[in-house]
Amino acid sequence: MAFRITFHGGAGSVTGSNFLVEGSEGILLVDAGLEQGRDFCVECMYAPFPFDASSIDALVITHAHLDHIGRAPKLVREGFGGKVYMTEATRDLMALMLSDSVSLLAQEAKRYGRDPLYQEADVERLLELVETIPYHEERTVAPGLSIYLRDTGHILGAASVRIKDADGTTVAFTGDLGNSPNPYLRETEMVPDADAVIMEAVYGDRLHEHVDQRVPQLRDALKRALARGGTILMPAFSMERTQLMLYEISNLMEAGEIPKFPVFLDSPLAIGVTDIYEKHAGEYFNDEAKAETRKEGSIFRFPFLTMTPSREDSETIAGEPNPKLIIAGAGMSHGGRIGKWEAKYLPDPKTTLFIVGYQAPGSPGRLLQDGSPKVKLDGREVKVKATVESLTSWSAHADREGLLKFAEGTLPRAKAIFVSIGEPSAQRFLAQRIHDFLGAKAIVPSKDEVWEITKEGATKLS
Ligand SMILES: [Zn+2]
Repeated sequence: MAFRITFHGGAGSVTGSNFLVEGSEGILLVDAGLEQGRDFCVECMYAPFPFDASSIDALVITHAHLDHIGRAPKLVREGFGGKVYMTEATRDLMALMLSDSVSLLAQEAKRYGRDPLYQEADVERLLELVETIPYHEERTVAPGLSIYLRDTGHILGAASVRIKDADGTTVAFTGDLGNSPNPYLRETEMVPDADAVIMEAVYGDRLHEHVDQRVPQLRDALKRALARGGTILMPAFSMERTQLMLYEISNLMEAGEIPKFPVFLDSPLAIGVTDIYEKHAGEYFNDEAKAETRKEGSIFRFPFLTMTPSREDSETIAGEPNPKLIIAGAGMSHGGRIGKWEAKYLPDPKTTLFIVGYQAPGSPGRLLQDGSPKVKLDGREVKVKATVESLTSWSAHADREGLLKFAEGTLPRAKAIFVSIGEPSAQRFLAQRIHDFLGAKAIVPSKDEVWEITKEGATKLS
């Protein structure tokens, strides 16, 4: 026997990415995520891990999104004491994201009458266990098991992990795969050396608009918004989407394609993430962005950008004349500073609201995207007179063509491709296409299924 893999999370998208990998001698866990999507399940979130946390030799983290790291401090709380491996950028982003979520989790726990999922001390303990690894460096991390990380181009520091057992059998986990090309992140790397691959399928059944179209769309929408003369609001996810927007807006101003006007980044978390992106630019960016950084100092800052980390700084934005653009979280308008600005400016017909990220069904952001004339923000009802500009092609995930191309790159070595992470319909759609177009064995595992992986292929054990 070489590997036994249990699909504890990711499959069926209930508890976030979480895979147990048993080699012939050692045991690894890949990701310890927290699901925050539509099927969010309170019981699942607070339930103990379905294995003995102290029996795990090491944890490998693919990237710093909460659906891949959100239960890592809980693992430590349950007795895990091994090393935690990830890239250096992921370590920095993870520290920021987990600390930022502590107070939110405490409020949430109070609402559910529970103890918080974890506290600051658990995050600190987790960080003490972290050992960072660069991409492309084979490292032994547990008895008989070594890992090798490759860039997935999804967010800064994101990695796929290829695990090798003592007998040479290999399995790879993709984490999330990027929507390459990205202006500063590197392209998604192929994984040609795994006997079995466990891949994401978030956009397994959808196509993004062509990447070349999205900057002109942003430019034209900004011009229309400026012509309306009011405040421009942009709820944005603090990690990656905000930086991408800053980069493109800066370039459009620089090139004279839009007028220069004040932009406010009103999110302490997004400001912290931007700092981490800048800190790691020299190591992680693609060659063009590295050259640009050397020339300009930062590819995200520009003369008309003001960052407002403190509450007092934030308050001053209200007094600034229009036109002005405010970028803030939360990305789906459920809380955060953007809620305050939406409540103030959405009743004004001169306002433009930009939707630049995925909006989950039922979120205030989705209601606004769908044209609702009123929306509940911070417990009060707000009339919407603003214009909503929906720009849908800025995803950080590969679409169905990108995913199929990635799957093709795993052949002929991969004898089985497991399609996990994502809505069940997207998983099934991608698996069918991998089977039909590539003639490969594609499997959609159910939650808690156990599979044996050898050099010859995959067999379901239970
Ligand atoms: Zn992700």
